[in-house]
Amino acid sequence: MSANSPGPIRGSKIGASAPRPDSQVSDAPRFSVNYYCENGHVTKAVFSANIKGDYPEEWSCEKCGQPAGLDAENPPVEPKTVPFKTHLDYVKERRSDEDGERILDEALDKLRNRFGRAR
Ligand SMILES: [Zn+2]
Repeated sequence: MSANSPGPIRGSKIGASAPRPDSQVSDAPRFSVNYYCENGHVTKAVFSANIKGDYPEEWSCEKCGQPAGLDAENPPVEPKTVPFKTHLDYVKERRSDEDGERILDEALDKLRNRFGRAR
């Protein structure tokens, strides 16, 4: 009877259009941090914004596994072990392709000579 009372609320069905509380969990804000390893790789790590900038100072490089840090100019170094590099990798770094072909030829020659001597 009161003139101030609101009329019936229209279009407020309970159903699919109602926002679900747990949908906000999956939309939690995130931020990414770039980590730089000594090999020049950049690894982007994504953290939940809930940690409020409390992210680690070091991360593992996703490409080479070396420790990666926040400062691109001064990436952390791992003095003890040098993983992911075999002796052959070092050889390849030192030798040009041309050297490699020459060395391969020499090696083949030695093999041929060895076989030749064996007869
Ligand atoms: Zn790396």
